[in-house]
Amino acid sequence: MIELHSVSKHFGGAAAVEDFSLRIEAGALCVLVGPSGSGKSTVLRMINAMIEADQGKIELRGQDIRSLDPVLLRRGVGYVIQSVGLFPHWTIRENIAAVPRLLDWSDSKVSARIDEIVALLQIEPSLLPRYPRQLSGGQQQRIGVARALAADPDIILMDEPFAALDPLSRANLQEELRRLHARSGKTIVFVTHDMDEALLLATNMAVMHKGRLVQSGAREEILLHPVNDFVRDFFGREA
Ligand code: ADP
Ligand code: MG
Repeated sequence: MIELHSVSKHFGGAAAVEDFSLRIEAGALCVLVGPSGSGKSTVLRMINAMIEADQGKIELRGQDIRSLDPVLLRRGVGYVIQSVGLFPHWTIRENIAAVPRLLDWSDSKVSARIDEIVALLQIEPSLLPRYPRQLSGGQQQRIGVARALAADPDIILMDEPFAALDPLSRANLQEELRRLHARSGKTIVFVTHDMDEALLLATNMAVMHKGRLVQSGAREEILLHPVNDFVRDFFGREA
């Protein structure tokens, strides 16, 4: 579904990502994990074509992203970030409908999709006419996830989406994401620096350090057979 071939990205001469190759199968929940500054967000933003790689090639569904129309590309790729960035002057309903509206869906199709997504993510329907500032951080982030899913993309990129939340909201949304992934079969790339979150969510993991991929594979494989001391120490537990 997603393939990166020897991708590099430099900012002002310094390598943020170096010779990074990874293949993510359809339906995986791949957690990109590593310490702060290891290049995780840069990888995600290159997959979404928000920034361009200096070297290497990225393919989505077998197509080089440079050959894809950026609008079409983002239509098929949902993106959720830490600070949710809901539009403050739009209601919750309008926020969730933002992408479907861009796609010229009919009003009835948008409306049906909102009902579906509200049920899927267990959003209290009474929140829909409210404004973002009237919601808690956890509720807002749930709406951010709903907005990313609204147009039914088959790829979802999430960059530390729950990092700013209180532990309870965080645990709830992690659980929701696991359910969603199990039911929908979507391909999810989830970035975190938190190894507990990585272990909880991942079917597959890619461990990054200083811009490079250190190890990738099935979650158990990495836990049982870390390739080096960095990976072993990062997860900090006995296999
Ligand atoms: P992570 O998400 O793992 O914390 P990032 O991908 O954000 O890491 O950053 C990797 C490196 O690239 C860091 O050293 C960061 O300072 C640098 N970097 C990221 N984005 C930019 C940018 N837009 N301009 C300059 N340097 C950047
Ligand atoms: Mg980051």
